[in-house]
Amino acid sequence: VWGSVQDRLRDDLGADAYKNWIEPLVFEGFEANVARFKAPTGFLGNWVSRNYSDKIQMLFSEHGADVARVEFATSVAKKAVAANGSAGKAPKVAEPVAQSRATGSPELPGAPLDARFTFDAFVVGKPNELAHAAARRVAEGGPVTFNPLFLYGGVGLGKTHLMHAIAWEARRRNPDARVLYLSAEQFMYRFVQALRFKDTMSFKELFRSVDILMVDDVQFIAGKDSTQDEFFHTFNALVDQNKQIVISADRAPGEIDGLEERIKSRLQWGLVVDLHPTDYELRLGILQTKAESQAQHYPEVSIASGVLEFLAHRISTNVRVLEGALTRLYAFASLVGREVTLDVAQECLADILRATDRKVTIDEIIRKVADHYNIRMTDILSPKRARAVARPRQVGMFLAKTLTSKSLPEIGRRFGGRDHTTVIHAVKKIEELRSVDSQIAEDVEMLRRMLEA
Ligand code: ADP
Ligand code: MG
Repeated sequence: VWGSVQDRLRDDLGADAYKNWIEPLVFEGFEANVARFKAPTGFLGNWVSRNYSDKIQMLFSEHGADVARVEFATSVAKKAVAANGSAGKAPKVAEPVAQSRATGSPELPGAPLDARFTFDAFVVGKPNELAHAAARRVAEGGPVTFNPLFLYGGVGLGKTHLMHAIAWEARRRNPDARVLYLSAEQFMYRFVQALRFKDTMSFKELFRSVDILMVDDVQFIAGKDSTQDEFFHTFNALVDQNKQIVISADRAPGEIDGLEERIKSRLQWGLVVDLHPTDYELRLGILQTKAESQAQHYPEVSIASGVLEFLAHRISTNVRVLEGALTRLYAFASLVGREVTLDVAQECLADILRATDRKVTIDEIIRKVADHYNIRMTDILSPKRARAVARPRQVGMFLAKTLTSKSLPEIGRRFGGRDHTTVIHAVKKIEELRSVDSQIAEDVEMLRRMLEA
């Protein structure tokens, strides 16, 4: 069982966290319904106990092992670090001082916060500016003006990042603030444990004693009736006390099927903000920011100009995928000691690029060409013959001829109702120019890669 649990942990926590925290553990076996581990240091045992024992316990259950508790003993000192599943009872901690300083209010059973998810590291653009401003307002404290703050948007758009940022910032401003962040899944798990150990009183007390409650991915409790019920009461109790609540979901409140109407309506009381899919500018901004921080780890790696732009164009709106691509590029370049050119990027990211691969359409070509040359799409389709639009138009026709299977007359028609001989002329012209004009060659190449890759 532990093997399967380990696999899941590796997937869920990521290779780094897994290596740091889970790998050093030695599984000793079950004793009654307690899973026992040896940890190399008290600190590590503590950490895992505080941050991952719920998760480990849950995974054991998923794999058919009914575990009521997970215990970590240090291999050196025989001090056991007990992590009981029931909420409210603070786990016995071997190094309480180090722990409580590191993570703020130690008795709150929140999920660990990612140190990278701060406001400083959050890149703001049109698609997320409102969500960012609202999150900032909440983190700054002061009178509660909207309650709850409801953030929603597709996967990888920064909901969790913003919630962690709120927690970091609120704690920085007021170290005594009781800020509780957890996923809806953890909320449910805590609640079920409380029921099971007949300890719902301390569950209620605990959740109602916080200054800021943040529940991530609330869509998870849809269809889970008793959890919804408890959530509803917690919610009301906190709102009555004027405590701030922040909720996230992948959809707008009204669109979460299986969520009780009264909860939907509560969730709409405050401010509902959506994180829009990223646009090109935001993706590029994020890539530039992340590239700067990667560059500190890999000073030897150089990224050719145009590569970040290419990624911003070609990779989907999910920021997590974008980040993954960049991380891989840096690691790859550092290993093979090569500059990251467009070629290298394409080779190294072939699978990611393939996943976002689509058939190139003429509309897309026109749009990308217009973007690239900073002219309007209507200019490309217009009869204007000024060089500033005629050349891009020819590039567009050339790309349409080489990247799609459309016929010459069809291409002519789509480029503002032109004759097929105009298209032939454009294709010839660009072919000629490519060999003598390096700017044109580069433009065409760049556009081609963006469109096709
Ligand atoms: P969600 O919770 O909406 O699925 P996350 O908050 O987990 O998304 O974000 C996914 C990844 O993308 C995280 O690593 C996060 O830091 C990063 N990310 C998302 N949006 C931004 C942004 N605007 N600036 C910087 N990083 C971002
Ligand atoms: Mg999230």
